[in-house]
Amino acid sequence: MKSKIKNAINNMNLHRTRFWIQLVVFVIFVYGGYFAIDLGSKLPVFACPYNSASAGACYLIPLQHQLSMPTRVLLGGAAISVIVGLLTFLAWFVFLNKAWCGYMCPIGTLQDWFTALRKRTGIRYSTYTRIQFEKLSKIKYIFLAIVLLFPLLMGVGLLGSQWSAAFCQMCPARIISPMLSGDFSQLTIDFSSKTAMVLTAIGIVFAGLFVIGSFVKKRFFCFFCPMSALHYIFSDLSVVQLKKNGSKCTRCGDCYAVCDMQVKDIADDVTSTNIIRDDCILCLKCVAACPEDGVLHFDILKLNAFSSTKEGFEKRMGMEKPYEGQR
Ligand code: SF4
Ligand code: SF4
Ligand code: SF4
Repeated sequence: MKSKIKNAINNMNLHRTRFWIQLVVFVIFVYGGYFAIDLGSKLPVFACPYNSASAGACYLIPLQHQLSMPTRVLLGGAAISVIVGLLTFLAWFVFLNKAWCGYMCPIGTLQDWFTALRKRTGIRYSTYTRIQFEKLSKIKYIFLAIVLLFPLLMGVGLLGSQWSAAFCQMCPARIISPMLSGDFSQLTIDFSSKTAMVLTAIGIVFAGLFVIGSFVKKRFFCFFCPMSALHYIFSDLSVVQLKKNGSKCTRCGDCYAVCDMQVKDIADDVTSTNIIRDDCILCLKCVAACPEDGVLHFDILKLNAFSSTKEGFEKRMGMEKPYEGQR
């Protein structure tokens, strides 16, 4: 019985399973507010609080507001609520870590749907060269520094209040998320100060780049996402892990060919056991595409939950649109 369930999971059509999980989670996150669903404001994904219909909110906005409090308040009376908020936020990193990106984040899902649309139009996707990839993939850490350092600089009086939640003012999700529920009010420039004007104008440019970029490049925004950087920093602590048994890897490259995030190590690294990299979104397409028994596996609490198998690979090859190939 146990091995039957295991075989069924290893042989599943991951593409279809993932599509339905993403769709259901997207509807809950983006429209759940209409059904009085409240998942709190400490989610490690872009479920944007600017969308009034959202069922929960990305923690980056309260985090920036809390860190910008005057240092004596931050270290004094507010410390307990800040610590509780942070611990709740970090608990999500331990619970699902980058699987939030592959399966939960509405902004990630939206990018996958742009990709699906592009495929239908027959336009070929674009990729980064390795040099571009190495450079661009560091931008997420610059955004992470903006999320964490700017509010702290406000707290010690080195930046003015117009820098409040500076990253959110630039984030494409602030504009795109409300639009999903018919609210276009964020599509404006704030002229209240020069800083606000520049930041909100950048936000509009980034939102435009998000739409165009996601259409031609798979998971375009995820390469730059500060939440991705945060997920990676805590990935070793997570109960979910992507593992590799390099001794059985033939370096055929199938896993790399299906990887939307161009994680080259997934095929090339045959020595690391833990194969999660900072750009990985834990979509598990690589596991589904690997034709070798047990080379790649997704573990929950160190138990093998989904593994690459020859049989699963052959079954998926026989299915229509098995795991989204190289288009
Ligand atoms: S990396 Fe992509 S999927 Fe993950 S939180 Fe950022 S936008 Fe969402
Ligand atoms: S698909 Fe499997 S065998 Fe092929 S390179 Fe990737 S991990 Fe190695
Ligand atoms: S390495 Fe695997 S799990 Fe990570 S993004 Fe690429 S295909 Fe998805």
